[in-house]
Amino acid sequence: MRRICPRDGDPLVAQAIPVGRRSVEVDACARCQGLFLDVGEIAQLTGNRGLHRYLTTYLGTDTDSKLVCPSCGGLMDTEECAGTTVDVCVRCKGVWLDAGELQALQQTTEDFSTLSDDKIHELLDGAHKSKRSQAYIAWLLWTLQRKRAK
Ligand SMILES: [Zn+2]
Ligand SMILES: [Zn+2]
Repeated sequence: MRRICPRDGDPLVAQAIPVGRRSVEVDACARCQGLFLDVGEIAQLTGNRGLHRYLTTYLGTDTDSKLVCPSCGGLMDTEECAGTTVDVCVRCKGVWLDAGELQALQQTTEDFSTLSDDKIHELLDGAHKSKRSQAYIAWLLWTLQRKRAK
């Protein structure tokens, strides 16, 4: 399937990003410099193994992103991460990064792989509380349901 930019509809083109001696091939938009990463590529590009777990912990609690996934056509959800708002596909867990966001994530000194689940929830709680109240209430209900299911 031909992938198009979720921001401006331009076709995405394969672009190899060097990581050490290897490179990771991602889909890039020539117009807005956005990047689409398939699931797992974010960890390869940033060397931050915990980042993927961080981004997907609360995935799908509210799909407040306006973007549609260029890979599977699924809805995307935004997650706050290291001062950056990252769009993540609820269905295939692909990640959309706007221009400069990959650099911001690569530069973050926060090592997400060493964070406990509790710490991740604490960080995400803060980010989610700042979102509009409707989404927050939906998230709260979901969390309560999940706690009860444990
Ligand atoms: Zn674009
Ligand atoms: Zn997707």
